[in-house]
This record gives sequence, structure tokens and C-alpha cells, in this order.
Amino acid sequence: MAWERIRKDTNPRVAPNLADYAQARRAFSWQRARAELSGLPGRGGLNIAYEAVDRHIAAGNGRHTALRCIARDGTVTGVSYAGLALDTARFANILRSLGVNRGDRVFTLLGRCPELYTTVLGTLKNTSVLCPLFSAFGPDPVRQRLRLGNARVLVTTEALYRRKVADRRDQLPELEHVLFVGPVTEPLPDTVSFAELMQAASDDFTIPPTDPQDMALLHFTSGTTGTPKGAVHVHEAVVAHHATAAFALDLHPEDIYWCTADPGWVTGMSYGVIAPLTHGVTVVVDEGDYDARRWYQILAEERVSVWYTAPTAVRMLMRGTARHASTDLPQEYDLSALRFIASVGEPLNPEAVLWGQEALGLPIHDNWWQTETGCIMIANFAGTEIRPGAMGRPLPGVEAAVLERGEDGRALVTGGRVTVLHHPDAEGELALRPGWPSMFRGYLHDKVRYDAAFADGWYLTGDVARQDADGWFWFVGRADDVIKSAGHLIGPFEVESALMEHPAVAEAGVIGRPDPVAGAIVKAFVSLKPGHDPSEALERELLAFSRRRLGPAVAPREIAFDQNLPKTRSGKVMRRLLRARELGLPEGDISTLEGSA
Ligand code: AMP
Repeated sequence: MAWERIRKDTNPRVAPNLADYAQARRAFSWQRARAELSGLPGRGGLNIAYEAVDRHIAAGNGRHTALRCIARDGTVTGVSYAGLALDTARFANILRSLGVNRGDRVFTLLGRCPELYTTVLGTLKNTSVLCPLFSAFGPDPVRQRLRLGNARVLVTTEALYRRKVADRRDQLPELEHVLFVGPVTEPLPDTVSFAELMQAASDDFTIPPTDPQDMALLHFTSGTTGTPKGAVHVHEAVVAHHATAAFALDLHPEDIYWCTADPGWVTGMSYGVIAPLTHGVTVVVDEGDYDARRWYQILAEERVSVWYTAPTAVRMLMRGTARHASTDLPQEYDLSALRFIASVGEPLNPEAVLWGQEALGLPIHDNWWQTETGCIMIANFAGTEIRPGAMGRPLPGVEAAVLERGEDGRALVTGGRVTVLHHPDAEGELALRPGWPSMFRGYLHDKVRYDAAFADGWYLTGDVARQDADGWFWFVGRADDVIKSAGHLIGPFEVESALMEHPAVAEAGVIGRPDPVAGAIVKAFVSLKPGHDPSEALERELLAFSRRRLGPAVAPREIAFDQNLPKTRSGKVMRRLLRARELGLPEGDISTLEGSA
């Protein structure tokens, strides 16, 4: 079905930062974007935390509200930019006094709370490296990432620590300091209270000279095989965070901005913490979980003007509640402050774009990017036409292309060369020309996988897309086996490995099964070891077993028993075939299937 385009708003409440696409692309350069930022005083380089916090104080805006933190019980605490500067200075001093230095890794395992902001920005002030973890991860993914990322410091809560780290702390010899945010019921060995340290710390801290190429952030992401990959980002990334938030989120300094992403993922960091603060806006931080009424109430009471959310959340709002149609409920709230809505992370179906228009009075602007790109690459903009269902067009400073694919589904590289598909609507692997400041600089300790992400001067995204005749990019699917469930990227290998630790499981193959709300849910096919038989009880046990280890966001929701998992001759489970069979799709090339002629 062809969806009507939504024409550009000819009477916007605020003049959009990007009104003329072609002109904006012509006029843009990353050097000019860099000049929008201050840099550390005395030519001390470029530090993300200075751009996000301290420079606003130098400009006389210290009293402006930086954060409006809403606790689970609804209590609201405001933090000014000046207050945030002092808190982050204190945290930087804590790290310094603990002997935590430039490049050392500080991990967070926290929800959306004020201490998260203090930790992230204080760590960056100290030129240490911040690595956020998703608090819904179970003990296995948490411990694996702490180990792979060489965590020296972990900032978390007592409850999360007890559930996910404590019993195998001895397996993390590099982890020296654990700081507890919030109340501590019973002191544990080798842990310390965040609040007590903060109280004792000085709020006088001078950010040391910071090379823009110094490592600043580490974000774990998943591939098809192997351990999670730690994407390395540097302080220079802030140039891209700032510029793209102006173009794709249309941020203006007077905005009240709410990003619903979890801080354990890249969106929650780039656009939940850094980018909005560099614009000096007020950021709404909600500690609570999704709840339709709570969300509308926050939009209304906080007078949110710019809202960045995710397709799964939009689809949940679209379902309405038991007593309300999805278009009635928002009518109960005053959403008149809202002027721009964007979403990211998974395909945004055209119905969702138009539901926004109908129910909230504004269309939803889809945009596309990934952990490795560090910032938004492709977007529908506030000041231009929207094509419902399309991801949008490349941002100024970004060159994107569609590359011809080979049999493995990835870009075809012949003699080191790739082929750019120029004809409209040709499907191929989405690729980007490296060179923007928030481009990842490596996968930690894994040069081989980093090098494999590039060919012939292009970064290969792993996504399949097409570009229409007017330059809009449309998402087609993934070129590999990773699963996007409720916006979270899940590596099938991590799930399979956990299942195979159960004594009954011989082998496992994990796929994403399409789901109308979450995009996909994780489904596992398992074969059993001799002496074990399929049963409902075993199914329940495997579901619970993987949930305990992986956490609810990653664990399979469905398990199917199959003693004849399709495998290649070299013995690898063929997820592609499992998926095709599950969906009733053609099985495609099965010449590598074990037992085939
Ligand atoms: P992550 O690195 O966890 O942020 O996940 C990045 C992946 O999410 C991309 O490679 C896409 O597969 C998917 N993704 C992100 N944004 C979109 C979008 N607007 N439409 C479709 N898929 C998206």
C-alpha cells in the first residue's frame, strides 16, 4: 500500500534548524560543526563533559534547569547546569582519589536517575571511559561485558549488584571499586556508598587536557557470532552528537526534551545524556517503566516540546488501554507543548507515523543509526516532507549508499571492490562513507572484526535497504542474524550459548520471530541430549533457566524442540533455514545443508 507523504509544515511554531535539505548539505562541514562548540579553555582540546555542562556556566546559563528527574513515585527533582557542574566535578574527584585514570573503564548498571548523569559526565571529566550496561541484562551478559571491557569501577545499586555480580565477583579481578547508588541495607565487602563518597568529595575540579581522539565511551553491541563487541567512541564524537541533534531532533535551547531510551544503550547515552545537554536544553529523566498514562502525564505536566522515543513504545501507545481507544487517551492530556516527535531503533511502520498525526497532532519522524555510527545518520527532518515508512535522508556531512550483495547476504567484495547500486529501489547492503566524528574507532581488543566492517572505503552496516528515486532510504531487513526485539539488539549466539549450558540441551539455534508490537521476539530451537525428552515441563525450565541467566530482555520467549536442527556440513546450525521454515518462506540455497547432495 502506498502511503501519502506528509507535506512539510509551512507554519512551524519554531523555525526548524534544517529547512532546506539541499542547501543544508551544501553549507555543512564537520569543521564548521566543530566551531559551534567551545573546546576546553586554554586550547586544552575537546572534552564531552565540558561541552555538555561547564560551557553553559561559562556562558552565564548556570541557573537553567539541566535535568528534571522523575522518581518512580512521581517525585520530581530539578538539577541546574551549575548543580550538575558541581556534582560531576565531585565524581571526577572521587575517581581521581581512587586512582582511576585516563582511559580506565567506569561501568554503569543503572536506570534513569540523577546519579547516572553525575557518573557519566564525571567520568568523562576525569578522561576515564564510560561504559553503560542495560540494567535488564541478566548476570551472564553483565559479567561478560564487565570482563571484556576491563571494568575497574562499577556504579550500580545494591539490589542489581547482589542479583548480577556479587556471587562471582572473584571472576572479575580487574574490578576494584563498586559504588552503590541509593540506600545500602547491609554493607558488602569491597563496596562503598556513592552518596557518602559524593558528600566527602571536593567540587573543585579542572578537566585535564583532552585529546579529541581520546577514548570516551564504550558501547557493547551484538554480532551474529562470538562475544559482544565493544564499540569504541572518542571525545570528538560530541561534535556529531551536537550537530545531529540540531538537524534530526530540531533541538533549540528553550526546549524541554524527553528521550525514553534506556541509558544502557547507545541512544540513551548519545541522545539521552550528551546531545541534549550540549544544546543547553532541559532534559526530562523518568525513572519509571513504560505506562501509557504515566507517559502522557509526563508529556503534559513537564511541557515536553521534543520527544525522542521508539517504535515499540509507539505501537504500545497505539494499542490504547482496556477502556480507551488509542486516540482517545491522549485527548485527556494537554499535549500542546509538544512540537516535534522522533523515533529510532527499529522500523517505524507508516501506520505509526500517521497515528502520531491523528492522536498526538504530530507525525512521528523516523530516523536511523546504530551503535557503531554513534549518531543519527539518516532522518526525516522537522522542516521537510515526511515519507511514512522511510527512514529518511542522510544528514548533512553523511554519505550513504546501497551496495550489491553476494550469496551470504552481505556486500559483495570482488578484488577489494564493491558495487554501488545506483538504480532507484535496488536492494542492497546499506553502507556509509567513514569520516564523521562519532564514527566508532574500533571494537575493543578485536581488530579482526573491526577490519571486517569495512570494504573499499565504505563502512558496511549489516542492514539491507533501498533508496528511492528522490533519495529517501527504506529499511528492508538485516543482512545478518542479529535480532531486534523491542528496540534491543540481541546476538543469537549469546542466547544459544546460555541455553547450551543447560544439561539437557545438545544444540540450539535462535531466531527472531516477527511480532506486531516488539518487532520480533526471541525464539529458540533446541535439540536435546540423549536421556532427555521434550516436555512442557522442560520447556518451562529452559525458559526460566535462560531468563535467570540472560535477563528478561534477552531470554527466549518461545522454545521449540527439534532433534534435527538444520546444520551446515561444517556443523553450524543454519538460523536462516530455521527462520524460513518458521515463517513459511522459501528455503533458498540449501546446498551447504548437512546431508544435501
Ligand atoms: P543498535 O546498534 O543497537 O542501535 O541497533 C542498530 C540497528 O537497529 C540498525 O542496524 C538497524 O538494524 C536497526 N535500526 C535502527 N534504526 C532503525 C530504523 N529507523 N528503521 C529500521 N531499523 C533500524
